[in-house]
Amino acid sequence: MPTTYSEEVDVLIVGSGPTGATYARVINDMRPKAKILMIDAGPIITDPPGLHVANIRDDKLREAAQIASQGPNRNTAYAPMSTEEVLARRAGAHDTSMLRRPGLFVVGNGTIDGDGFPAAHASLNVGGMASHWFGACPRPAEAERIPFIPRALMDEVLTGAEALLRVSKTQFGASHIAGPLRAALSRLFDAGRAPDRQVQPMPMAITVTPEGVYRSGSNVILGDLLTDGAKPFELRPDTVCMRLIMGDGRADGAELKSTVTGEVTRVKAGTVVVAADSLHTPQLLFASGIRPKALGRHLNEHPQVGILAELTGVPAGEPVGQGFFGGGVLGDRTVTARMTSGVMWVPYDGEKFPFHVQMSQVEPTSLLPEDAEAVGDNAVVTCSFFLPSDLQWDNRVEFSETETDWLGRPKMRTHFRMSEADLQRMQLARETQLAICNTIGRPLPGHQPRTPPNGSSLHYQGTLRMGERDDGTSVCDTQSRVWGLDNVHVAGNGVIPTMTAGNPTLTAVALSILGARAIAAR
Ligand SMILES: Cc1cc2nc3c(=O)[nH]c(=O)nc-3n(C[C@H](O)[C@H](O)[C@H](O)COP(=O)(O)OP(=O)(O)OC[C@H]3O[C@@H](n4cnc5c(N)ncnc54)[C@H](O)[C@@H]3O)c2cc1C
Repeated sequence: MPTTYSEEVDVLIVGSGPTGATYARVINDMRPKAKILMIDAGPIITDPPGLHVANIRDDKLREAAQIASQGPNRNTAYAPMSTEEVLARRAGAHDTSMLRRPGLFVVGNGTIDGDGFPAAHASLNVGGMASHWFGACPRPAEAERIPFIPRALMDEVLTGAEALLRVSKTQFGASHIAGPLRAALSRLFDAGRAPDRQVQPMPMAITVTPEGVYRSGSNVILGDLLTDGAKPFELRPDTVCMRLIMGDGRADGAELKSTVTGEVTRVKAGTVVVAADSLHTPQLLFASGIRPKALGRHLNEHPQVGILAELTGVPAGEPVGQGFFGGGVLGDRTVTARMTSGVMWVPYDGEKFPFHVQMSQVEPTSLLPEDAEAVGDNAVVTCSFFLPSDLQWDNRVEFSETETDWLGRPKMRTHFRMSEADLQRMQLARETQLAICNTIGRPLPGHQPRTPPNGSSLHYQGTLRMGERDDGTSVCDTQSRVWGLDNVHVAGNGVIPTMTAGNPTLTAVALSILGARAIAAR
C-alpha cells in the first residue's frame, strides 16, 4: 500500500539546534522559494523561539524555561546539591548531582559510575542544547581538522559559522582579570607556538549589549525566518520524528508524532536533514532501517579535568559582564560558575599540548563560605581541561530492536572505554593543571583536579562520522549525505570524524553550511 501523506515540503529538518537552524538559514538564503519544515520534539520555551535561556533575566522565568527543556523530567526542578555531594565533588569523586543538570536530562546508562557514557545528556526544546550552552567557539587546529576537506574551503565555512553564531573575541575587554591571567599563561605556554595557538581570549558566541551579555541561540541563526511570515518556513514544536519513510535509495518522507496529542502524521519531503544530536540522530536512522556499519561507532567526547584556582594578587573586583553558566544550587545559592570576566583560552597544540584549556572567573557569591574565606579578596577562576579521546570502533551507541525509550524510540545504550593513551593524557592534564594553578596562585585549599563521569562534556562526536569514501568506517560523505541515499543528510557533532580537544559546535555548524549548500545546489 502506498503511504498517504498529509503534506509535502521541499526540505524537512528534524531538530532545531544550531546545526538544524544552519541548514534552514543557508537553504532559505540560496533557495528563497524552497518550502522548509523544521520540527522539534521539544516545546518552545522562549520568546523568540530558540533564544538562549541565559538571556531571560528573570530568575523564575529562566528556571521555568530550563525545566521545560528537561524531556522526561520536564515537570520538576532537580533537587539542589546536598552538602555531601559538594564535598564529594570537591574531593575529586563522582556525585549524583552530576546527573541533575538544569535544562538537560540523562540519556546515558543512568548510574553515575556505570559503564559507557553514564552522564550523557540531551535537551528537548526548540533551540536544542544551544539554548543552554556556554558558547565557546574555538577554531580547530591541525590534527583536529578534517584532512579531506580543502583547507581554504573549511576556513571559509568556519568564517561563515562564526558569523551565524555571532562569535566574538572581545566580549569582555574591560575585565581586569584578563590581563594578568593572560600574561601568566603566556609565560607558561606561548614559546614555540604558532600565533593562532598562543594564549588568547576565547572566541565566544556572545554579544555585549548595553543591557548586558546576549548569548547566541538558534534564534540568531534563524533570524528573519522566525519573524517574516512571507517566508516558506515553518517551525513545528512538540513533534517527534519516529522514523523516515524509505523509498528506493532515498527517503520519501517521515512519520511525525505530536508529543501533545499523540497524533501521527506523514510528511512527504524532497530532502530530509536529521539534526537531532549525536545520539538521537543515529537513533532515528536506526529506527528507519538506515544502518551503515559505522552508525553509532567511534563515539568519542572530551574527557575533562577541572579545578578551582585562586588568582593570587588579583582582586575579584566588580563583575564586568554577566553570564549564566548552568550548574546546580546549594540551598538557595548557585554553586557553579557565573562567568564574570570572559574566558581565557590555552589552545590545543597537537602532541605538544594535547588539551584545550578554558579559564573564567567565578563570581565570588557563588563560592562556598569556606572557599570564600580561604581566598579573601583574591579572584577565583575555573581551570577546565578538555582532552581528545582516541577513536575506537568499539566505543559506540547501540539501539534495541525491542525496547523503547520514553518517546517510543529504540532504547539506546552507550559503550565507552578510555584507551591507555587517553589515561596517560589524563594524568598529564592533572599535572599541567596543578602547574597552572601554582603559577597563577594556588588550587583552592582542599580542591583536587577532578574528572567527571564519561559523557559529562556534552560534546559527543563520531557517531555519524564523515568520510572521504564509503569504506565502512563512515556514515556520510563530505556534504553530510548518508552513503547510498540520495536525499538524507545528517548534522551535528556526530559528523566530526577527527579526534578533537576543542568545543565542537563551530565545526559542526561549518559542516552544516557545506551540507546545506549541496542541498540548495541540487
Ligand atoms: C551547558 C552546555 C554547555 C555547552 N557548552 C558548549 C561550548 O561552550 N561550546 C560548544 O561548542 N558546545 C557546547 N555545548 C554543546 C552544544 O550546545 C552542542 O554542540 C550543540 O547544541 C549541538 O547542536 P545540534 O544542532 O547538533 O544539536 P542540539 O542542539 O542538541 O539540538 C538537537 C535537537 O533535536 C531535537 N530532537 C532530538 N530527537 C528528535 C526527534 N526524533 N524528532 C524531533 N526532534 C528531535 C532535540 O529536541 C533538540 O532540540 C554545550 C552544551 C550544554 C548543554
